[in-house]
Amino acid sequence: MTIPFSPPYVDQDIIDEVVDTLQSGWITTGPKVKALEKEVVKLTGCPEALCVNSWTSGAILILKWFGVGPGDEVIVPAYTYSATALSVLHCGATPVMVDVNVDFTIDPDKIKAAITERTKVIMPVDIAGLMCDYGTINDIVNEVAIKKIFKPTSEKQQQLGRILVLSDAAHSVGASYKGIQSGVATDITIFSFHAVKNITTAEGGVICINLPSDFDTAEEYKLMRIWTLNGQTKDAFSKSQSGGWKYDILFAGLKVNMPDLCAAVGLAQIKKYDNNLLLERERVAKQYELFFRQKAWAQLPILEDQNRKSCYHLYPLRINQISEIQRDQMIDFISSLGVAVNVHFIPMPMLTLFKSLDYQISNYPVAFDNYSREISLPIYPQLTTEEIEYVCEAIAQAYQKIMVS
Ligand SMILES: *Cc1c(COP(=O)(O)O)cnc(C)c1O
Repeated sequence: MTIPFSPPYVDQDIIDEVVDTLQSGWITTGPKVKALEKEVVKLTGCPEALCVNSWTSGAILILKWFGVGPGDEVIVPAYTYSATALSVLHCGATPVMVDVNVDFTIDPDKIKAAITERTKVIMPVDIAGLMCDYGTINDIVNEVAIKKIFKPTSEKQQQLGRILVLSDAAHSVGASYKGIQSGVATDITIFSFHAVKNITTAEGGVICINLPSDFDTAEEYKLMRIWTLNGQTKDAFSKSQSGGWKYDILFAGLKVNMPDLCAAVGLAQIKKYDNNLLLERERVAKQYELFFRQKAWAQLPILEDQNRKSCYHLYPLRINQISEIQRDQMIDFISSLGVAVNVHFIPMPMLTLFKSLDYQISNYPVAFDNYSREISLPIYPQLTTEEIEYVCEAIAQAYQKIMVS
């Protein structure tokens, strides 16, 4: 048996939606993007959602919209995909890395200790689909003493009057924290629609705008939309209408809009997310849980606790009492049985770029421990009961081979 790690979910509804787009005479940003944004609003309850062509470009856009630049600091967890910190570097600002908890999410105490008068944004990451402790994080940015040291250097920073919380929710569409959907737990939430994520547009992302009430959300949506289109006042769709040729360029925006052709894929998926795709992921996770619960050597990921419900993006199994080398050997053996597994994530301080910028993994012991014992199992709606059993047996055999015999 061969089991891929994360093949895209493509059914007839998705093919039909894409063909419909191709035959409609409009393939770039237009009605399908609007429809997808509406579905995101419906799913999350956020006031406005803006599609972009990746999580990464969405994050750069928001940092620029907020006026983050050289000299500014953005707090990120050391344990994430590098895009989190790269978006900060692309704006000329400094990512300040902090350690995570055993459940993989950013440690709020470490956030608090890292705040300086240069801190402009905190970017918590909802690893594997489990949301961060947003109650505590939102409390921190609203503390009087912390608001006092906040030094606004842009109009938007002035208006907010405190540190912005921007959730890296690349993994967490459909997850909840204290009954609050991912998308409305912080000021800004960005989902990724990359090919391996729970909902995909091949490449893409969406910005959920949930700013405090003194912001005019509809106006901020319009402004951010202009940011996606070179700072241009009219999109190609409006310009294509008769008499609509005049436009202006207001500022040096980005070019990160999502095409309708991509939105069509996500539109067909999001319509069956809650009542189908998400439940199928849960089914897979629960079957893994039943199997590995019986293994004393396995540390299971949290799928649900008193505050949170995961959306089962990853299944990050950890092995107790294992070294990084032994974990790598287990992965080699699992691969030889035809099962594709992965590691989420190599902490950023272990990667060449960040080492060259003087980040040191020794400062992030929990991130390293999580990484060194982690194996991500395949998890997606198409997996059958037999395939999941095969994956379980492959992991158990690998453990036996590397750690016991
Ligand atoms: C996938 C991912 C991203 C980047 O998403 P793109 O849409 O590929 O830019 C960012 N953060 C995390 C945690 C991710 O897993």
